[in-house]
Amino acid sequence: MEMDKLPCAGDATASRQRFFYCASQGLLKHAIPANRGGNGNRFADMVNAHEALGKACKDSGLLLSINAHLWGALFPLLNYGNAQQQENYIHKLMAGLLVGGHAITEIQAGSDLNALAMTAVCTEEGFLLNGRKRFITNTPIADLLVVYARLDNKLSAFIVHNDDEGANFLDSPQVSGCQSATMGDVILQNALIPHSRQLGKTGAGNMMIQQALELERAFIFAGICGVMEWQLDSVIRFSRERKVNGTHLGKNQAISHKIADMKLRLDTTRLWVNECARLKDNDKRLTLASAQTKLFAAEAFLQSSLDAIHILGSSALITDSPMARLVSDALSSRLFSGSSEIQKNIIAALLGTGDGYK
Ligand SMILES: Cc1cc2nc3c(=O)[nH]c(=O)nc-3n(C[C@H](O)[C@H](O)[C@H](O)COP(=O)(O)OP(=O)(O)OC[C@H]3O[C@@H](n4cnc5c(N)ncnc54)[C@H](O)[C@@H]3O)c2cc1C
Repeated sequence: MEMDKLPCAGDATASRQRFFYCASQGLLKHAIPANRGGNGNRFADMVNAHEALGKACKDSGLLLSINAHLWGALFPLLNYGNAQQQENYIHKLMAGLLVGGHAITEIQAGSDLNALAMTAVCTEEGFLLNGRKRFITNTPIADLLVVYARLDNKLSAFIVHNDDEGANFLDSPQVSGCQSATMGDVILQNALIPHSRQLGKTGAGNMMIQQALELERAFIFAGICGVMEWQLDSVIRFSRERKVNGTHLGKNQAISHKIADMKLRLDTTRLWVNECARLKDNDKRLTLASAQTKLFAAEAFLQSSLDAIHILGSSALITDSPMARLVSDALSSRLFSGSSEIQKNIIAALLGTGDGYK
């Protein structure tokens, strides 16, 4: 991928152009079989490509946007779409001609999926969807979203287009982290979705959400490893060049130990992400490893972002500094795809204990 050709970051139009450029370089085709139009390579290859992108672009928002598209729309369509749905969407999603994402969260329902209230009612003409989604990545640039709603009180998935009657894809509210991903609310008021756009079976929504989030948790930090590598390189360079009391800054153990910790966090995150790729490439379950990866990586990213600011001093806090931006990005990474506390609940439940154990 020729990174010097990546369009500059800016508004939603720029976000879409940057997304499209990545797609045009084949980034959305990794780990998809060749007979489905993909690169026919492994998840390990995808991880390497995402890390290279992260290191070059240093833009956690672009990485989030790509991951929401992949795990929220493209892979669910690959895994659950019928022949017609695959025909309609897969190639365009891989080529970046369509941008997707998934809409799960609502104002009253974040971590607690049981509180989801959006409804779908089956009529002769199609499904009537009503409700409001919040914090949905890609909404301002999305052509379609996989939206989860209750049909006969069972969570089910629907493919909603941005130009469907009764569907309103907003560009607010935004959060302060990963801003270039773009986000917003999705308001559905008697939105009529054709029967042909139900994705998967009625009642399969919960399982589909878990599967999508598992993949997102496993791989979203592949790109962020690249960002963390750039972050580490920057502080090492600074610690050598910056002179304090007649010697270089890194001579102080209070600084060099922080750098050692940053290196350990980066390499451990990388090991976890690669372990997820190894499991996926061998058709093994990902539930435990993806929760462990997400938990470790988000906390590591946040601590390393704080350490980088500490080492670089006030210059890192100059308004719009990319280093300062990473602190907000890292804070939001503790929340997207399920918060750190939810990952602990999953891990404990898989060990046969804790709040999540039934
Ligand atoms: C940048 C960003 C992008 C996002 N993109 C999307 C998207 O594309 N699609 C989408 O559907 N959603 C998206 N979200 C929403 C995200 O999934 C939710 O923010 C997340 O699930 C947490 O929900 P909440 O913010 O409502 O917090 P709450 O669920 O209200 O939790 C508040 C606090 O309580 C803690 N908590 C909650 N329940 C428990 C528990 N059982 N045990 C211990 N602690 C608990 C949480 O960890 C958190 O610290 C995004 C969020 C961000 C920040």
